[in-house]
Amino acid sequence: MDRVDCVVIGAGVVGLAVARKLAQAGREVIVLEEAEAIGTITSSRNSEVIHAGIYYRAGSWMARMCVDGKHALYRYCGERGIPHRNCGKLIVATSPKETEKLQSIKAHAEANGVLDMQLLAGEAARALEPALACDAALLSPSTGIIDSHAYMLSLRGEAEEAGTAFAFHTPLVRAKAANGLIEIDAGGEAPMTLQCSLLVNAAGLSATHVARNIDGMPLDRIPRAYLAKGNYFSCNAKAPFSRLIYPVPEPGGLGVHLTLDMAGQARFGPDVEWIETIDYEVDPSRAERFYPAIRKYWPTLPDGALMPSYSGIRPKIVPPAVATQDFLMQGPRDHGVAGLINLFGIESPGLTSSLAIADHVAELAEI
Ligand SMILES: Cc1cc2nc3c(=O)[nH]c(=O)nc-3n(C[C@H](O)[C@H](O)[C@H](O)COP(=O)(O)OP(=O)(O)OC[C@H]3O[C@@H](n4cnc5c(N)ncnc54)[C@H](O)[C@@H]3O)c2cc1C
Repeated sequence: MDRVDCVVIGAGVVGLAVARKLAQAGREVIVLEEAEAIGTITSSRNSEVIHAGIYYRAGSWMARMCVDGKHALYRYCGERGIPHRNCGKLIVATSPKETEKLQSIKAHAEANGVLDMQLLAGEAARALEPALACDAALLSPSTGIIDSHAYMLSLRGEAEEAGTAFAFHTPLVRAKAANGLIEIDAGGEAPMTLQCSLLVNAAGLSATHVARNIDGMPLDRIPRAYLAKGNYFSCNAKAPFSRLIYPVPEPGGLGVHLTLDMAGQARFGPDVEWIETIDYEVDPSRAERFYPAIRKYWPTLPDGALMPSYSGIRPKIVPPAVATQDFLMQGPRDHGVAGLINLFGIESPGLTSSLAIADHVAELAEI
């Protein structure tokens, strides 16, 4: 049986950031990925927004890692010329009741360490975005967008430079923890058995499934998985905005918002659709709910402009009735299995937080 120091399961943005971190700390790393390439699942089905860290519960992992990760990500992209744009975002209030809420959103953001939010009257917001309909707005200057594929390619390159090996088409099938080591059965085209002293489960939507297949992992520490799909619609009209536009959040979601990709193309979404099985099809009829929501802040959105685009699925670990979840990152002290780290529920802001999550994994691994 081959022996390796660290194995990372999953080559999404989080697995890549973790592999790079471990390899740069001098560890021997192999990444097992069941797909044919890096970042083919949730890491390529998101909004590519560098989130500021506004809404997350104060003190939560999401709040802390989003703010730390955002700073680290801007630095990382700046130093390496990774395409990104610190374009900013406006949270727009379209009724007096929503205007009242902006103040509390600002206070919440400040409690999370997001200290640059600016309250704007409707006129001031329209000076920035003339096509916007709103009573007032909150400007988040530190929100941005990123070419997530360029970022992932860079993480992979740096991981490889530091010695990481990648095995594609290689799913973890089973593992067994015993005597401080973990034995892994990997399947795929070239099945193999490996023994490692550190196993990082960064399998995204499959992380709970992977954990259940690790003999020795206490089942009562594995959360139940739920799937919350987010559907996107693209817009065949040129959207006249240069910042991201979000409505005031409603219970259960951020509302139908406009994000831009690096090419300036607008997309709307993601909405929230709880599903039982993985299915990325976008139902065109969901556009009916998008039009009235978007027209509150962009009244001139033309009829027929929205086209079904793509979807992504949030790896939820709380049921629909629970409004918020947090990242659940377990090390040996949490579940008692030496050498095992599980990353559960890494939904948004997982991309923004990826470098901070990697740092935390290194702490859990006591590197
Ligand atoms: C709709 C939506 C919008 C989002 N928007 C944003 C955003 O704008 N900004 C932001 O910061 N975050 C956003 N996120 C969150 C972000 O996309 C995720 O947090 C991040 O991509 C998670 O990365 P990951 O590496 O954990 O998972 P994934 O990208 O899913 O990677 C997991 C990998 O594990 C592999 N795998 C699974 N099982 C096995 C196995 N048994 N053996 C080997 N490999 C396996 C999979 O093939 C996959 O490649 C969004 C998420 C969604 C769903």
